[in-house]
Amino acid sequence: MGLRYSSYIDSPVAVKYETLKDNPAFSYRDNRMLKKQSSKFITYGCRHCRTHLSSYSQIMSKDYRGKTGNAYLMKHVVNVIEGKPEKRSMITGDYIVCDILCHWCKNTVGWKYLESERKDQRYKEGTFVLELQTICKCE
Ligand SMILES: [Zn+2]
Repeated sequence: MGLRYSSYIDSPVAVKYETLKDNPAFSYRDNRMLKKQSSKFITYGCRHCRTHLSSYSQIMSKDYRGKTGNAYLMKHVVNVIEGKPEKRSMITGDYIVCDILCHWCKNTVGWKYLESERKDQRYKEGTFVLELQTICKCE
């Protein structure tokens, strides 16, 4: 048995509007919503074991569909294990993605974009999708 080690998210990460505003995924509506709610800090965790995964400030878009329903596009996610890379066809083109699993309970919580075949979708490379069905808000 290895030691259990988790990164804890316990302080707000400043949202860098300046770096996000040129991102095609970052719509005007998202920007307004982020600004409105940036005073609130929300940590998202694994629904099963509550291991911290990401936070409100990492959301790039809320308009995503996962396998199980609504999903968020996240800039950064912690405490996950990456699965085997595979090619997946989506509405916006083909991608090389890998599933991401909670490093503690091994539940699949979403996927990571590794490569996009389309140039206009390359901004997603290195970003993560978290399925709302698999995560929870942590206090
Ligand atoms: Zn978990």
